[in-house]
Amino acid sequence: DPTAARRPLGSVEVESPNLTYTDDALLAKYTFHSAAVHKDVGADGHAKYRVRPVEKHLEFRTERKVPKTGLMLVGLGGNNGTTLTATILANRHNVSWGTRDGIQTPNYLGSLVRASTMRLGVDAEGNDVHVPLADVLPMVHPNDLVVGGWDISGLPLDQAARRAKVLEYDLQRQLQPLLAEYKPLPSIYYPTFINANQEERADNVIPGHDKQQHLEHVRRDIREFKAKHDLDQVVVLWTANTERFSNLVAGVNDSADNLLRAIKTSHEEVSPSTIFAVASILEGVPFINGAPQNTNVPGVIELAEREKAFIGGDDFKSGQTKVKSVLAEYLVNAGIKPRLIASYNHLGNNDGKNLSKEITKASVVDDMVESNSLLYKPLAQREADSKDGWVKGKATEHPDHCIVIKYLPAAGDDKKALDDYTSEIGMGGRNTLSIYNTCQDSLLATPLILDLALLAELMTRVTYREQSSPNGEFEQLYSVLGLLSYMLKAPLTKPGRQPINSLNRQRQALEAFLRACLALQPASDLVNFTQME
Ligand code: NAD
Repeated sequence: DPTAARRPLGSVEVESPNLTYTDDALLAKYTFHSAAVHKDVGADGHAKYRVRPVEKHLEFRTERKVPKTGLMLVGLGGNNGTTLTATILANRHNVSWGTRDGIQTPNYLGSLVRASTMRLGVDAEGNDVHVPLADVLPMVHPNDLVVGGWDISGLPLDQAARRAKVLEYDLQRQLQPLLAEYKPLPSIYYPTFINANQEERADNVIPGHDKQQHLEHVRRDIREFKAKHDLDQVVVLWTANTERFSNLVAGVNDSADNLLRAIKTSHEEVSPSTIFAVASILEGVPFINGAPQNTNVPGVIELAEREKAFIGGDDFKSGQTKVKSVLAEYLVNAGIKPRLIASYNHLGNNDGKNLSKEITKASVVDDMVESNSLLYKPLAQREADSKDGWVKGKATEHPDHCIVIKYLPAAGDDKKALDDYTSEIGMGGRNTLSIYNTCQDSLLATPLILDLALLAELMTRVTYREQSSPNGEFEQLYSVLGLLSYMLKAPLTKPGRQPINSLNRQRQALEAFLRACLALQPASDLVNFTQME
C-alpha cells in the first residue's frame, strides 16, 4: 500500500488542514494562547491588572520513527533498578506468577503512558472519547527498551532482586535465568557523597581518583552500550542512592566551563551523579535525576543548553508526595487554608538506610501557597501584622510544615506515611485530615522511571519553529525538560522560572503538549455550558 507510510502510526488520526502527515514526520500548525499580565498598585493600595491576550503561531514537527532505545540506570542493582528490569522482562516474556491470591499477570499499572488515558474529544452523541496516552503519538513501548547500567554493587540482577525483597518469590524464581544475564557496569564511587553504611556493597567501582578519567569511562560505557545493542537512542537515569548536596562554589560548578575544569582537576565538590549528567550531555543523550540531590548544578544546566542536550529532575514523585501536592491544591483552590502539614514517614529499604529527603518534599506546596494571596498574605504585610513563629524566608506566609523520615528495617520496601493536614475553615473553624498511606516504594517508582524515559525520548523527537519563518530551522525543546514534572518531586525548570508543583497543571501541560503536536487545542468543557451544539 503506497499510502501506508503516510497514515498515522497509532490509532489516532487527525483530519485537519493544520496537520500534515509526511513519511517521516507529523507537521502541526498550532496557535498557542496565553495572557500577559501587568499589575499596578494604585495610590489607594488596590491592585489593578491589565491583561493582554498573546498568540504565538508555531509549527511542531514530530519524528514518526520510534528509535530503538536503551535505558541505562545508574543504580541498576538497587530496588528500583531490579524491579524495573524484572517488570520489563515479565511483560516482554509474558511471565505470570502464583501468589496467595491466585495467578498474577504482568502489567504497567502506575504508568501515565501505558495505563492512563486522555480525553480526546466528544463523539456524535456527545459522549467523551478517551484514548490511551500511548496511542496519541508514536512512542517507544517499554517492552522494547534495552536495559543496562551501572552499580557500585556488582551482584547480578537475579541476586540483587533477591536482596531487594520487592517481588514475589515465584516471579523471582521464574525470572532468575533472565535476570542473571544482567550484570551492572562498575560505577563511580566517592564515599563522602553517600552514607558510610553503603560501603559494604561497593565492590564494583571504577578504579582511581581522577574525575576526568571517570567522565571518559562513563562516556565510553554509553557509546559501547549503544553500539553493542545497535541503539538509535539512550536515556540515562540516576536511580542510585541519594547523595549529599554538592556545595555550590564560585569557579567550580557555577558555569559549564568551570565545571569541566573542576572535573579535570578532580575537585572534591563534583559528585558522581554530576559526572553522569555531564557524560550524558557530552554524549548527546537525555539525563534524568531521580534522587533529591542537586546533581544538575548551574554548570550542568549551562552545559546542557550549550550542547543542545536534554536533562530532567529531580526526585521521583511516587507516593505520599503526590497525595500532598493534590491535597494542597484541593484545599487552597477550595479557599481552605492549610495551617499545618505534618508528615511522619518510616521505611525499611536500602534507600531509607542511606539517607532521608526532607528537602525536596518540603517545596511541593509552595506554588499552591503562593497562588492564593487571599489565604496567604505577602510576607511583608504578614510581618507588619504579627510576629508568630511561622516559616519565614518565603515571599508569602506559609503553613507550619514538618517532615520526619526514619529508617525501620522491618518495614522493608513499604513506605508508611502518617500525615496530618490541619486547615482553617470559615469563621476560625478547623478541619483536620489525617492520612495513613502505605505503598510499596519500588513498585510505585518503576512506572515513573518508564514514563520519564519514554517521554524524554519523545521530547527529543519534537521540534518547533515560528510559522512566520516557514523556511526557518526547527528548534528543539528547551534543554531542561520541565514537561516531565508530573513524575518529579522538585521539578527542575528553566533558570528564573517558577517550578509548577500542582499535579493537575503538570498533567494538563503534558496533555496540551501532546495535543499541540497533533494541531489540537487543549480540551475544554465550554460547550457543555452554552447552547452551542
Ligand atoms: P536502593 O538503595 O535500593 O538502590 C540504589 C542503588 O544505587 C544501590 O544498588 C547502590 O548500590 C547503588 N549506588 C549507590 N551509589 C552509586 C553510584 N555512585 N553509582 C552507581 N550505583 C550506585 O534505592 P532505591 O529504592 O532503588 O531508590 C533509588 C533512588 O531513587 C534513591 O536515591 C531514592 O531516594 C530515589 N527515589 C526513590 C523513590 C521510590 O519510591 N522508590 C522515590 C523517590 C526517589
